[in-house]
Amino acid sequence: MNRLTGRTALVTGSSRGMGRSAAIRLAREGALVAVHYTARKDAADEVVTEIENDGGRAFTVRAELGVPGDVHELFLGLESGLRERTGSTDLDILVNNAGVMGGVKPEDTTPEKFDELFAVNAKAPFFLIQRALKNMPDGGRIINITSGLTRFANPDEIAYAMTKGAVDQLALHFAKYLGPRNITINSVAPGITRNGNPVFDIPEAVEQMARLSAFNRVGEPEDVADVVAFLATDEARWITGSFVDATGGTLLG
Ligand code: NDP
Repeated sequence: MNRLTGRTALVTGSSRGMGRSAAIRLAREGALVAVHYTARKDAADEVVTEIENDGGRAFTVRAELGVPGDVHELFLGLESGLRERTGSTDLDILVNNAGVMGGVKPEDTTPEKFDELFAVNAKAPFFLIQRALKNMPDGGRIINITSGLTRFANPDEIAYAMTKGAVDQLALHFAKYLGPRNITINSVAPGITRNGNPVFDIPEAVEQMARLSAFNRVGEPEDVADVVAFLATDEARWITGSFVDATGGTLLG
């Protein structure tokens, strides 16, 4: 605990799901966290309240990703929130978590859906990293949430898996580029992880999904948040360009 005191972090899509847990976890380690959302202001405000009640520091930032001007809007809010609280715009940790799922069969995937998936899941993280590097001191951390679906076939998620495969590439190539600055960048690939999707309210469906994991349960957002928090600490300084399997053994086959 308190391994991130004095650091600042942005977690995209942290109003809900794994992003929410990652924001709470990083704040518990002492980081000042920007809780990013697009539509659910209520949920983002609740995350900030929970962090503050826990003795941590956080603020919300709104921006829709995947649309023109997205990165600019996000950084306007981020920099003003950071400056107000720290007197600087340094960003030590970027967690690219926001994402949208496909859930459409190959024959039903329209060019519009395909473009939306790529815009939110792949293009936005690239340009967020490009922009964040202007604010990131040496020793910073970039963590991209990808998916076990880059290595586990699901025909209803071909386009989605393509976006996550593209994001996995960010870690490989940026790692070499950022090494001289001691900035690490890694992919964390979750398996099926509980979120607000109503499917998690159906016991039979949960049982079936649980069978995919070696541990016979679905992932909880905290399972992934703990991995994110570790990668954000100094203890993970020697890990970069990695694909971290956080699927609970789903990829073991
Ligand atoms: P949720 O669906 O619970 O939450 C999505 C978050 O992303 C919300 O904070 C939402 O904001 C934000 N968001 C969605 N679209 C946009 C957008 N266009 N612009 C800005 N913000 C947006 O997420 P999960 O926890 O399920 O997933 C988190 C990440 O993990 C995603 O990248 C997902 O692809 C990946 N993943 C998820 C798996 C799972 O089983 N859940 C498995 C493998 C990977 P708001 O609340 O304002 O709508």
